[in-house]
Amino acid sequence: MQSIAATNDPFESLSPPVMRASTVVFKTFDDFVQRKSRQPDGFSYGITGTPTARGLEKKIAALEGGRHCVVTPSGQSALMTTVMGFVRGGDHLLVSAACYGALKTFAQKWLAGMNVEVEFYPPAIGAEIESLIRPNTRMICMESPGTVTMEMQDTPAIAAVARRRGVLTMMDNTWASPLGFRPLAHGVDFSIEAATKFFGGHSDLLMGSISMNDHAHYEVLRETQSILGQQVSPDDCFLVLRGLETFKLRLEAQSASTLRVARWLADQPEVERLLYPPLESDPGHGLWKRDFHTNGCLFSLVLKPGPERAFHGFFDSLKQFVIGASWGGVHSLAAYYPAALQAERVFPATDQPVIRLSIGLEAADDLIADLKAGLAGYSALLAAR
Ligand SMILES: *Cc1c(COP(=O)(O)O)cnc(C)c1O
Repeated sequence: MQSIAATNDPFESLSPPVMRASTVVFKTFDDFVQRKSRQPDGFSYGITGTPTARGLEKKIAALEGGRHCVVTPSGQSALMTTVMGFVRGGDHLLVSAACYGALKTFAQKWLAGMNVEVEFYPPAIGAEIESLIRPNTRMICMESPGTVTMEMQDTPAIAAVARRRGVLTMMDNTWASPLGFRPLAHGVDFSIEAATKFFGGHSDLLMGSISMNDHAHYEVLRETQSILGQQVSPDDCFLVLRGLETFKLRLEAQSASTLRVARWLADQPEVERLLYPPLESDPGHGLWKRDFHTNGCLFSLVLKPGPERAFHGFFDSLKQFVIGASWGGVHSLAAYYPAALQAERVFPATDQPVIRLSIGLEAADDLIADLKAGLAGYSALLAAR
């Protein structure tokens, strides 16, 4: 192979190299014929990644306290790949009603159509999940706190029942990140992160990760990742590696602001309820306190009831918060989930519209002033009714 270097002087960078490849080149005929034996760690074709992806996977596995990691092109693809690796027609799949929406849609529209028995369970079920386990139950999906409505789950209790009954468990751990909770240490088989959020940290990429300890599971997921064509760009791996350099500091700063902003909101007359386990008033506070080590940067709130029109007053008054989905980046975001969406859910947490806030790195005082204007905008339109 030809080198592109113009000199023989040694070169080493502090940053990891971005190694791109579809074709991987082999020294000998035998190496090529036996290339598949290099899996699950080695390199045989671009679909299973290059050393850039492997470097990131090592780093994420270490954060999770796990032995292995597979990165995928989005958080949703990490959830889907984990299920597709192990669940087949005829199996029974248990999914928390507070799991990420696209995972639930995948289960209902695709898996159910492929003869998987999909069953949603109430997120607060705890050890009583045992009563739902059938002889063909293959996997339990968890997310704690749950998407948008933030219900805490008793993850260790569910994982213990599952282990005893020979059922696999996966947990979407994106809210806490492995710095705030380590699912693998609590007996969960697969810890999933949307690296799009905290790991990337700058709202400019999509990625997911699946971490685990069991080597046989790792082999299955590496094959599933490659057969489903779930390849991750080495450039995006580089950006996540860079994001991870500041991750701990970002999380600490954002989670301190988040608690301040949430406490302030909880005292405002326009606010009916905060959905945020770090607050003592939240029904999941006990589990959060027992298991978690971060306030996160994401919470939801329910305002005193008003027509959808009044929410224009809230969102249109915001200047610091940008209106948008996703979260975990350095810029604060506000998102809206209408009442109809909550009502559609099985085991709904509320029948009211929900506002979700992601707290970034702006000054907490500025964010509070912004929310004060938002609440005044809401009140003004309520009064105009
Ligand atoms: C955003 C998110 C996902 C999906 O991640 P994408 O990279 O956007 O596909 C999954 N789970 C949770 C909890 C999320 O917040």
